[in-house]
Amino acid sequence: MAFLDANAGEIIRPEALAAATLACSLPGNPSSVHRAGRDARAALEQARAKIAQNLGADPRYLVFTSGGTEADALAIHALGAGRRIVIGATEHDAVRAAAPDAAVLPVDHRGVARLEALEAALRGGPALVALMLANNETGVLHPIAEAAALCRAHGAWLHVDAVQGLGRLPIDLAALGADSLALSAHKAGGPKGVGALAMARDAAARALIKGGGQEKGWRGGTHNLPGIAGFAAVIDQPPPPGHAAWRDRIAAAATDAGAMVAGEGAQRLANTLCLILPGVRADTQLINLDLAGFAVSAGAACSSGKVAQSHVLQAMGFGQDAGSAIRVSLSWQTTAAEVEAFIAAYGAMARRLKR
Ligand code: PLP
Repeated sequence: MAFLDANAGEIIRPEALAAATLACSLPGNPSSVHRAGRDARAALEQARAKIAQNLGADPRYLVFTSGGTEADALAIHALGAGRRIVIGATEHDAVRAAAPDAAVLPVDHRGVARLEALEAALRGGPALVALMLANNETGVLHPIAEAAALCRAHGAWLHVDAVQGLGRLPIDLAALGADSLALSAHKAGGPKGVGALAMARDAAARALIKGGGQEKGWRGGTHNLPGIAGFAAVIDQPPPPGHAAWRDRIAAAATDAGAMVAGEGAQRLANTLCLILPGVRADTQLINLDLAGFAVSAGAACSSGKVAQSHVLQAMGFGQDAGSAIRVSLSWQTTAAEVEAFIAAYGAMARRLKR
């Protein structure tokens, strides 16, 4: 099986596995005062310092969470308190579900946020704007630095869901000009179920999970030290080489076979390709490719495993064709041979199903 669904969750990197396993052997709770607790606390703070340093962030304002979903929800709950919430039309459900009444910023046909709409939305008083760095379905990148400048000029807080960027793009909180970032370790080859909310400055703690007041009151609950250690182990990994060329090779071959590329013409993640084969249902394509030995997905993975209509492709104006899209997302373990085999399998499938 060639695993081409890294955007749902990367294959764990050996460094992450080793660091998480080692952290499992630490007996102490980082909140305990005895020696074992202090050892665990030292490992925790070492991981926090390394992660913050690699993100151009301040470790004092980095809160560990259970992943990207919780980091987004915490940002909207805590940093959006008393502010109007404005979100991009193609945000992940982690953001959409946390802000069901938000004003929604449209995207253009390439899936890129319309900055003139952001400027208009910012005129109505203090806001928290949630705009993702890279879209999980199409890989499309949003103009974060420009959005940050607009937000700053209007006193708005810019929260950036950087979950799909981790391990694929350099991410620097200060350089992006964002006020906060949501991160998730597993998209970069770290363990699943751990992430962080990194803030550019101090803010009032307003926990979603209160419990024992860990993380300076931002997030109760005993720390997931193995997960956090695994997260720190992958934070300085460079993006895998060769992905952009492979993505473009697959795109060219799929286009020849009758497919469209969602997000074409926009800047996109090197590992992500959203292919639309008009007239052929996405679940039919998934089953065919699965039988041929390729793990790909239809848009975002959701808990029921069902193929839902993509709000991302709808927002980009694909209408009916949104139901015919699959996402190919290359992993750090993907090989040139797998890419060639996928191109052959996709072409054969397209010819068979389009007939
Ligand atoms: N944000 C984006 C853009 C994502 O792609 C995902 C997961 O796919 C999430 C948030 C949620 O992250 P997690 O799976 O760590 O909860």
